Amino acid sequence: MLLCEQKEVLYRAHQARSVSGVCESLNRFRKKQKAPVAAMSYSQVDITEAFGDDQRLGPDEWITTVPLNATTENPESMGLPPAGADADEVYRVASKLSELRESIPIPNDGVYCPVCHIANVDLSKLRTPCPQCRRALLKFGWD
Ligand SMILES: [Zn+2]
Repeated sequence: MLLCEQKEVLYRAHQARSVSGVCESLNRFRKKQKAPVAAMSYSQVDITEAFGDDQRLGPDEWITTVPLNATTENPESMGLPPAGADADEVYRVASKLSELRESIPIPNDGVYCPVCHIANVDLSKLRTPCPQCRRALLKFGWD
């Protein structure tokens, strides 16, 4: 975006049309790229309702999360447990997704329990027992 804006300023005088053409096709390309990646699968089965929830939480505070499969059409096609899956099925799917996420260092990741629907900002709690159900906590992204 910024690059396009700078170029636009630079070339506005005589080449505006072709540069904005480039920007347009670049933006189209980005949109095309983004959609299939997002559609492929999630790396967690819950989200928090508000953006930036992690910013105001202390290491011992827990926030309620929302299961994605309740609001996603055809959740299984997105790598999510089916709507109405029982706790063990939800946890099995979530644990697999977490393994993937655990293989990538992502700044500010926290932990969550996909069964109790609670999350915490302290990544050092990863794979330690959930305070409610004692299942191992999984890796959680906030954005
Ligand atoms: Zn739990």
